Amino acid sequence: MDTSKKPTVVPREVEKIVSNYTTNAVDAREKLGDTLCAAKWYHTSLNLRTGKSRSCYHPPFHQISDEDLQKPDGLHNTEFKQQQRNMMANGIKVSECSYCWNTEKDGSLSDRHFRSGEEWAIDFYNYKDDLEKLKNVTPTYVEVMFSNTCQLQCSYCSPEYSSTWASNIRRYGPYGTSIPHNIITDDTPTDSKYIDKFWEWFPTMYPQLKVLRLTGGEPTIDKNVLKLLEFLNVMPHRGLDLAVTSSLSVRRFGQYSNGADRVFPIDNVARAVNRAREITGNYGKYHELIRSICMNNSVKSFTQYVSVDTFTSEKLEYARVNTNMNIVNVGIQDINQFNALLYKTKQSDKTVTPIQLSYIITMNVLNVTSIVKTLDVILKQREAQVSYEPDRQLIWFDTPILTAPSWQALNILPRAYQEYVIDAIEFMEANKTKDVNHPVEKLLGFRDFEIERMKSVLAFMKTTPTDMETLHRCYSDFYRFFSEYEQRNKLGKFEKVFPEMSEFWKQCQYYSRQTRRWLKN
Ligand code: SF4
Repeated sequence: MDTSKKPTVVPREVEKIVSNYTTNAVDAREKLGDTLCAAKWYHTSLNLRTGKSRSCYHPPFHQISDEDLQKPDGLHNTEFKQQQRNMMANGIKVSECSYCWNTEKDGSLSDRHFRSGEEWAIDFYNYKDDLEKLKNVTPTYVEVMFSNTCQLQCSYCSPEYSSTWASNIRRYGPYGTSIPHNIITDDTPTDSKYIDKFWEWFPTMYPQLKVLRLTGGEPTIDKNVLKLLEFLNVMPHRGLDLAVTSSLSVRRFGQYSNGADRVFPIDNVARAVNRAREITGNYGKYHELIRSICMNNSVKSFTQYVSVDTFTSEKLEYARVNTNMNIVNVGIQDINQFNALLYKTKQSDKTVTPIQLSYIITMNVLNVTSIVKTLDVILKQREAQVSYEPDRQLIWFDTPILTAPSWQALNILPRAYQEYVIDAIEFMEANKTKDVNHPVEKLLGFRDFEIERMKSVLAFMKTTPTDMETLHRCYSDFYRFFSEYEQRNKLGKFEKVFPEMSEFWKQCQYYSRQTRRWLKN
C-alpha cells in the first residue's frame, strides 16, 4: 500500500503485459512441473452471499465451513483447498482442475500456465519447493461477489447470479427443457456472517493484494462494493489493479436526476465527478467513487469490464432482458468523456489513472451473427480513442466461449454458421495492428492474441456435441427455452429479431415437436 501524497507511479501499460503473456506462460510451464498451479494458492474467487470459495473460475465452488470461519483467513485457506493443494504438491492432478488437464492433453498451454505466468503469481516461485510455508498464504488475486442483486435476466444466466432470474423462477417455475432449467437450488437468504468475515479479513490482506475484481449480480449498485470503493478512496493502493464488471445498463438507478439520458459536454474532471452525483441511487455513488479514485491515481489501474455480447440493439435487448442499448451507450460515452478530461489533467503534470474499458463478448448462439458488427464498433472506438488519449490503449475486449447451457453454445449450430466467425477472423486480419511498437499505430486495429482468441471460437464451433441424440436434444431445448423465455419476458419473436436464423429456429421447433411426440408414446 502506498499512502504517499505525491503520486509518482505511472499506471500500468497493459499492452506490455499482454505481449509477454504467452512467453510468461511457457516459462511458467517449465517451472511448475506437471501438477502445480499458482492459482490454487494465490487466487481466490468468493461468493459471499452463499459462503462459497474456489481457486479460480474453472473449479466448482465449495462451501466455506464454520470451522474455516474460525481462522482469520478461512475464506481463502479453506480445509478443502488445503487438501487440493497437498494433492497437487504430491503430483496428483486434482479432478476439480480437469479443465486444465484436458487442455494440456495435446501439449497446449492451459490456464494453469497462463494464470501462473501473471504478475500476481510471481511470489509462488519463491516458495514452490517449500510449500508448507504457504499453508496460510495471503491471496494476491481476489475476486468477490457480494450479492446476486441484478436487474437483468440474461438468457444464459441463472438465479445464483441474478435476483431477477430468481424472482422469475419463483413466479413461473423452472423452464420446461429436457432437464428442468434453472431450478433454484439455494434459496437461503444471504447470511451476513461471510460478509462480516470478509470485512474483518480485508484490511489485513489489502497491502499484499495485486488484483481486486468485483463481480455480481450487478456490483455497481451493491452497498458492499461502495463500501470497498470508499475504503480505496481513503487508503490508496498504487500497486493494485482494480476491476469491476457491469452491464452499464442500470436503468432505474442509472438515469440522471433531471431524467436526461445523454452525455453533456463537461470541461473539467472535478465537474465530471460532481456530475456523477446527479445519477440517482447507488449507481451514481459508484461512478462518483470510481472517478475520484481515477482522478487521484489511488490505484495502479482500473478496468471497467462491460458484459455486452453485441452492439446490435434488438439482439442485445432480446439476449439480455431489461438491457437498454441507449443506456449502455451513454455509460460508454460518459467514460470516454471522463478519460478525455483526465488526459488534459495529465498534460498539466498530474498523474492520473484512466478508465480502461474492456468488453466481455461471450460467444454464444445469440451473438454470433452480429459478431463482425460488434468488432467494427470496437475498431471505431479504438480509432476515436486516439483523439482524446493517444498515450495508451484504453479499449479492450475478450471473447470467452459459452459452454453452458449446452443449447446456447456455438457448437450446436449447423456448419454454415462458421462463416460468421470466418468473416470475423478475416475482418480482424484485414484490420490487424500494423506496428505494435509505433506510438499511435499500436492503439489501432486488432492484436495477434485477439485474432487467436477468435480462431479458438471457430475451433470450438467445429467440435460437435458427443452424439446426434444429444445434438437433437439441444435443438429441442433451444426451442423450448426461447419460446417460453420470450413469452415470460414479453419479448419480440425470435424469428423477427434473428431473421437470418429462421431456418435454424424451424429445425429446433421440429425437434421439439418430435421429442414431445416421442414422450407421449
Ligand atoms: S489448475 Fe487450472 S483450474 Fe486448477 S486452479 Fe489452476 S488454473 Fe484453475
